[in-house]
Amino acid sequence: MNLKDNIVIAISKGRILEEGMSLLNSMGINTMENMQDSRKLIYETNNSKLKLVIVRAADVPTYVGNGAADIGIVGKDTLVEYGSNNIYIPLDLNISKCRMALACLPNCNPGPRIKVATKYVKCATDYFIKKKKQVDIIKLYGSMELAPILGLADYIVDLVDSGMTLKANGLEELDFIFDVSAQLVTNKASMKTKTESIENIINAFEKVI
Ligand code: ATP
Ligand code: MG
Repeated sequence: MNLKDNIVIAISKGRILEEGMSLLNSMGINTMENMQDSRKLIYETNNSKLKLVIVRAADVPTYVGNGAADIGIVGKDTLVEYGSNNIYIPLDLNISKCRMALACLPNCNPGPRIKVATKYVKCATDYFIKKKKQVDIIKLYGSMELAPILGLADYIVDLVDSGMTLKANGLEELDFIFDVSAQLVTNKASMKTKTESIENIINAFEKVI
């Protein structure tokens, strides 16, 4: 791929990383060292103008929005939750698919103050506003499934793929909130200053998805 400009791509660590890397590999982009046995956060690639950085999912919109990275690969969940200021979303990559869902224990019977545990405070708040239900949101950073079991919350709002984790913890999916998949995002200013290079990368992604 012919790039005129230096380009930085920020990729979510976690589940998106592996599928994101295999898209890049099928575009002919490879890191110069093996990611598995490295603790590096920034990688040179076989294209001397292109670098990859691996960051926390929630940090991708920040890096791309501020132009520290030109391009990002990030879940729709993260864009909805943390916003997409100064960001374009030119392509749905159709990988790392799952859904935002509402779940609870069977026969869950909340009191007058419904409690909802989630890492996705904005998504949960918007959902219950739409349902015209007043709830108390409890922010968690992981393992949401535990909250109803220990009585911390009546409901959880979380990502669900196969439903195996819910099932393993005796929870039931109560409602679908929205579909999630990884998105290709670009910094708005980079799109103007590095148009050709970024368009080349978007086109290359389009060919492999
Ligand atoms: P954190 O420490 O912030 O939880 P993580 O490294 O554990 O991050 P993941 O939980 O793998 O990261 O989530 C990264 C992204 O992967 C999410 O934003 C989402 O878009 C996607 N993802 C999360 N869970 C699933 C799932 N069950 N199926 C498919 N994709 C998922
Ligand atoms: Mg996680």
